[in-house]
Amino acid sequence: MSSSKVLVVGGGIAGLALAVALRRRAVAVDIVELQPRWNVLGVGISLTGPTLRALAAIGLLEPCIATGFGFDRILFADAGGRPVGSLDMPRLCGPQYPATVAIGRSALHEVLVHAAREFGAAITLGTTVMALQPQGDAVEVELSDGTRASYGFVVGCDGIHSAVRGLAFSEVPEARFTGLAVWRATMKRPAAVDCMQVFYGPRTKAGVNPHSRDEMFLFLVQPIGDDRRLPPERMRLLLREQLEDFGGDVMADVRAHVADAPSIDYRPMNSFLLPSPWHRGRVLVIGDAAHTTTPHLATGAGMAIEDAVVLAELLAAEPSAPGLLDRFMARRFARCRLVVETAVKLGEMEKDTTIPVQAHLELMRATFRRLGEPI
Ligand SMILES: Cc1cc2nc3c(=O)[nH]c(=O)nc-3n(C[C@H](O)[C@H](O)[C@H](O)COP(=O)(O)OP(=O)(O)OC[C@H]3O[C@@H](n4cnc5c(N)ncnc54)[C@H](O)[C@@H]3O)c2cc1C
Repeated sequence: MSSSKVLVVGGGIAGLALAVALRRRAVAVDIVELQPRWNVLGVGISLTGPTLRALAAIGLLEPCIATGFGFDRILFADAGGRPVGSLDMPRLCGPQYPATVAIGRSALHEVLVHAAREFGAAITLGTTVMALQPQGDAVEVELSDGTRASYGFVVGCDGIHSAVRGLAFSEVPEARFTGLAVWRATMKRPAAVDCMQVFYGPRTKAGVNPHSRDEMFLFLVQPIGDDRRLPPERMRLLLREQLEDFGGDVMADVRAHVADAPSIDYRPMNSFLLPSPWHRGRVLVIGDAAHTTTPHLATGAGMAIEDAVVLAELLAAEPSAPGLLDRFMARRFARCRLVVETAVKLGEMEKDTTIPVQAHLELMRATFRRLGEPI
């Protein structure tokens, strides 16, 4: 097998985006994905300007816009639904495209997996990597199906609990529990919800995000003492109890329909930043395996897609050049750290209800301005 071929471990957003980015530049790619069947959560995700710009770089802006719901502004209100501010998001992809698109996670997955296959990435489900051994300009790989092969690079796109990171790195810091959990549920979109709306309540922050013509998703961020999971049979009741804090038409509609949501997702939130560099020899990790952020800037997937775009550009240009991965770090580390650290800070600010919402908005505005810079 050619040593210029890349093995991508993990078929999530980072792995599929990397496969598309590499195949578009004619680099050979295999993907192995642990799950025997695709298993994508049925809620939505925001693609902010930098994320849309990165998707445009791999030719996937149009299909995401076609499937998702575009808007330019995020509205902020108090618990009663009274407006307290707004964020105008910049149209980074040009005046003809919306500043932000929300899309169902499964719809985004369909776009990515379709493109990866169309461009010729080989995807093997139900398989992972068992061992990695550096061998000159290549990495010898043993897979869980018994296959042994040689690759020019191995890229761990296998999320916060990355197995690749575990195999290649001797010391990895623990992910940090943020003291926050997020609830999410999908429901019918009322016509009035035509952009993301966020409500700051006395105990929690809630919001709605339209991710298709017909649907929106609710999110609610709650300070919690520990990262225990909740009994599934109590989740609906517990979420409804949290929603009692909120008034106004939008949240009244949410309260009326949350009982019909197909499922309720609840997860304690962790934050993780792997110190630089994210590579050992010809093995590296990107996406959540290197930097896991809370969703306060709705940009974790965006950073994963940007990682993929930059890595593919460098790998295609000079696959054996020494220092290539250092150049990757020079373009990625500070930017991903900005997202991870600012998101933690916004979470901390949410826990202190004496901090005015305007201070949150100022920090978000300043961070989005920096993230709008070229990558
Ligand atoms: C509540 C919440 C809301 C969010 N909202 C947004 C948002 O609005 N906008 C945004 O940009 N980001 C958002 N994010 C962040 C975003 O979801 C992640 O940053 C993104 O999913 C990271 O993609 P990834 O491919 O790196 O990792 P993952 O999504 O974790 O994918 C990893 C993949 O690797 C596979 N895998 C795992 N282990 C192995 C193994 N050993 N071998 C092979 N395969 C393996 C997994 O099955 C999976 O398919 C949010 C995150 C959370 C938690």
